[in-house]
Amino acid sequence: MRIVQFRKVPPPPIICDLGGLRYAIQFDESLSIPSGIKYVSNTPTILLNPNLLKQFSPITQQFMCGHELGHLVRRHRLGTCSAEYEDDADYYGLVHVFERGFLNDSNVSTLVHEVATFPPSDAATSCYYTGPERARRLWCRYLRLTGRC
Ligand SMILES: [Zn+2]
Repeated sequence: MRIVQFRKVPPPPIICDLGGLRYAIQFDESLSIPSGIKYVSNTPTILLNPNLLKQFSPITQQFMCGHELGHLVRRHRLGTCSAEYEDDADYYGLVHVFERGFLNDSNVSTLVHEVATFPPSDAATSCYYTGPERARRLWCRYLRLTGRC
């Protein structure tokens, strides 16, 4: 008997147009992080690993998608390691879910808790604040968005 192994072929990218801002979304189970963004064939592409994303709550998944979208909308230079860019994308991600009415005191505390437990950046990706610092900043911004700070 002959055993045939099939290589799992990733689904084709989803092409999006956000008011003239063209980008793609690609699911990639080999990605080592839940989400990321880079140029693929000259198209800015949001990469998502569904297996890693589903370890987080729906609100954190939504935030991560908003974060990646923030890199595009805010015209960050992709591939640049910058705490300023990452912080700005975090802010965009927070506002993204807030403005759609998905954020309340209960699930923002879930979001902040999960972000606080993000693993520390290694030397190659030290462009992020630590998880607890990102969580603190998100919490302060949420309080400002809700007029309590
Ligand atoms: Zn980012």
